[in-house]
Amino acid sequence: MYQPELETLPRETLRTLQGERLKRIVAYVYARVPFYRHLMDEAGIGPEAVRGLEDLPRFPFTKKDHLREHYPFGLFAVPREEVARIHASSGTTGKPTVVGYTKKDLGVFAEVVARSLAAAGARPGMMLHNAYGYGLFTGGLGLHGGAEALGMTVVPVSGGMTERQLMLIQDFRPEVISCTPSYAQTLAEEFRKRGVAPEELSLEYAVLGAEPWTEAIRKQVDEGLGVRSTNIYGLSEIIGPGVANECVEERQGSHIWEDHFLPEVVDPQTGEPLPEGKVGVLVFTTLTKEALPLLRYWTGDLTFLTREPCSCGRTHVRMGPILGRTDDMLIIRGVNVYPTQVEAVLLGIPEVEPYYQIVVRREGTLDEAELKVEVSERFFQEIGKKALSDEVIEADHRLHALREKVAHKVKDTIGVTVKVSLLAPGEAPRSEGGKLRRVLDLRKA
Ligand code: ADP
Ligand code: ZN
Repeated sequence: MYQPELETLPRETLRTLQGERLKRIVAYVYARVPFYRHLMDEAGIGPEAVRGLEDLPRFPFTKKDHLREHYPFGLFAVPREEVARIHASSGTTGKPTVVGYTKKDLGVFAEVVARSLAAAGARPGMMLHNAYGYGLFTGGLGLHGGAEALGMTVVPVSGGMTERQLMLIQDFRPEVISCTPSYAQTLAEEFRKRGVAPEELSLEYAVLGAEPWTEAIRKQVDEGLGVRSTNIYGLSEIIGPGVANECVEERQGSHIWEDHFLPEVVDPQTGEPLPEGKVGVLVFTTLTKEALPLLRYWTGDLTFLTREPCSCGRTHVRMGPILGRTDDMLIIRGVNVYPTQVEAVLLGIPEVEPYYQIVVRREGTLDEAELKVEVSERFFQEIGKKALSDEVIEADHRLHALREKVAHKVKDTIGVTVKVSLLAPGEAPRSEGGKLRRVLDLRKA
């Protein structure tokens, strides 16, 4: 562990610390951020009204739109001169939101990323191949700072230029890699194509995040790169990557660094706090941030929390995998669908791979969903590597049956009718460095 005393704080002590920090941050934003002063005045909550964690649900949520309305620096709690660095969200869903850090915030950022890397298996002296994008995106510089704090050797490769990445991994022999899970898939696949076996690679651990992924992808990456991969979670508004990380021992949920970020899970419709274990929207209150403190920030990410003790000894609450983000949710003929649900279905079908794309169109008044999915290399061999056109599929009973099987499983599990297109290995979109968009919603176009 990077900070054993803090990472194993008894839960009671942690709670007391959170309560104290919450009181402080509420008074801080009330005094410094006009947006929060108005919000609290309107809700009839004075800063002195907060006695502890139990008062948190009285506060309204802060949403992405609030940040956009105050673009670029309107929610900052310090004068611009005290802001040491600016980042922006990658803008996966609309206009980017701008975030800022004081020197102290950057210290906290490095600290939580160092904890995350250590939880993932990294040790001082190991080398990190950091393939997260550098720039306004928080991934690159975020991992970089944490790795330096931990005492690693950092290779700031950034995303993209896959050929060069493969070479550097072979020549420099890093033990740890950080990137998006979809890019780790790409790297694993490219090594395989070149006949480089996982045993020849020096990599031992992979720290993957910034987009949803599943156990199917984990298996593929672990086997393809010869690593034990863990999930890193975060978002720019709260700090960046390193809000939470899985421990490499268990890999059963990501420990949220709770002395800095206070999590809640609430009902997506009503906003009411949900009991432990129930899936809802993840909401964070920053407890120590100076430049951009946020109260009850609505992440839009869906998951659950568990406070069950973990064998790694860390006492910090764990969050489950992100099942989707509310703005990623597709409504197809009235049925709510998340890409990760589709992926989970594909995982249960050996003839296909978790490389897919969902295309939604409006035909007249009806939504039509097409699921394009790659068949496995082995199945492709078996059918004689035919071009997978509609005519070929209709004419070959194995292809036809596979198409039906995928459509049925999706219908049975998720309740939505999809048209299935089979793709040859390598035909579905791949990550070229950053986040991969698996959904193409043409209804909005
Ligand atoms: P953007 O909203 O533009 O993508 P960020 O780059 O700040 O902005 O990305 C944060 C978002 O990325 C999170 O809210 C979440 O939806 C997603 N994300 C980050 N880490 C993970 C992860 N480990 N698993 C699933 N989703 C993640
Ligand atoms: Zn653990």
